[in-house]
Amino acid sequence: MTRPLHAYVHFPWCLEKCPYCDFVSYKTPREAIDHDGYADAILRELDARREAFEGHQLASIFFGGGTPSLWEPRAMGSVIRALLQAFPSARADVEITSEANPTSLDEARAASLVEAGINRLSVGVQSLADERLRLLGRLHDVPMAMRALSGAIATGARVSADLIFGLPGQPPEEAAEHAARLVDLGLDHLSAYALTIEQGTRFGELARRGKLPLAEDDAICDAFLAIEATLEARGLEHYEVSNYARPGQPSRHNLGYWHGAPYLGLGAAAVGFFRTAGGGLRYRNTIDAAGYVTGTRSLARGVPRAGDGVTQEAEPLDRETLLRERLMLGLRLAEGLDLDEAARDLDIARAEAWSRPRRRSMELLMKSGGLAVEGARLRIPRARRLSTDGIAARLF
Ligand code: SF4
Repeated sequence: MTRPLHAYVHFPWCLEKCPYCDFVSYKTPREAIDHDGYADAILRELDARREAFEGHQLASIFFGGGTPSLWEPRAMGSVIRALLQAFPSARADVEITSEANPTSLDEARAASLVEAGINRLSVGVQSLADERLRLLGRLHDVPMAMRALSGAIATGARVSADLIFGLPGQPPEEAAEHAARLVDLGLDHLSAYALTIEQGTRFGELARRGKLPLAEDDAICDAFLAIEATLEARGLEHYEVSNYARPGQPSRHNLGYWHGAPYLGLGAAAVGFFRTAGGGLRYRNTIDAAGYVTGTRSLARGVPRAGDGVTQEAEPLDRETLLRERLMLGLRLAEGLDLDEAARDLDIARAEAWSRPRRRSMELLMKSGGLAVEGARLRIPRARRLSTDGIAARLF
């Protein structure tokens, strides 16, 4: 059977650096970006990497960042065409998503992106209250977010929005009301993330010095549950810890990650993964955008190797490590994961997957209500989904 493949293209520039963001992105004015030069570098990397992914069927392309809606649609279109040509057996309905920031998305820009081949737009709205947007250091206000969303919806593409909850002083009802207003605009998908304070960000530094007010854990949990209740009442499925979709509209790209599928990462700071005889290989590209462009000029064809001018790190992963990752990612899904199926796919003996220590941990978790096991399927009951990472780690 042909394995599905997911392609991720990283665009590492933004107009401003948000104080909570730990993604690789550099504050740069739009006119200072070499739009075509970066696209050409991606095409060179694709040409070098494609062999490692031969025989796969391309199921999705995702432009993330950074702010890919800053990219000239013409340049983005050339990357889409090259990917579809490189994998001619691509699914006819390949999902092609671009993240978009309201500061660089209006109706005309959304239409150009769709013309370039994008069929799904994921808009970083984050909040529908101006004071919260200011706290988050966003350059847009609520009217701009609304304009971006209506422009995106007008194209007929599938549209998702990102929302951040658990902001200091934010009542849970407010977060739920924002989620409801967004979905009522006609979105088919919403990602709702609790604000997390990451080291190395401006918020991380402020929190370290005790200068950032933080929401209480209980308030974050209440907001999570309020959003869930509101969106489920509107017919959306809470299919992953942070993601909701109308039936049949989940992000296929992200489902690929959660199912442990291979992904071709392209661009500065992109991460890729493919299966090997011993398990798999994960590679991370250099985060230096200019160095990446230069590095692709002499990139040899074949498997990514640390020091090849583009790859910063290439990490071989054995089968047991991959199984632990499947548990960590699969348990994020409402459907959970089938441990027998994962073991078969990874060529791991059933007895190893259901090892004595793992079965013991399962029993303890089942007793405490942290895990449900039906046949070979493992799931985290909805009341415990906010603790997914901790529960999954106990099954390692
Ligand atoms: S716009 Fe997005 S990627 Fe850019 S800094 Fe803000 S959160 Fe990070």
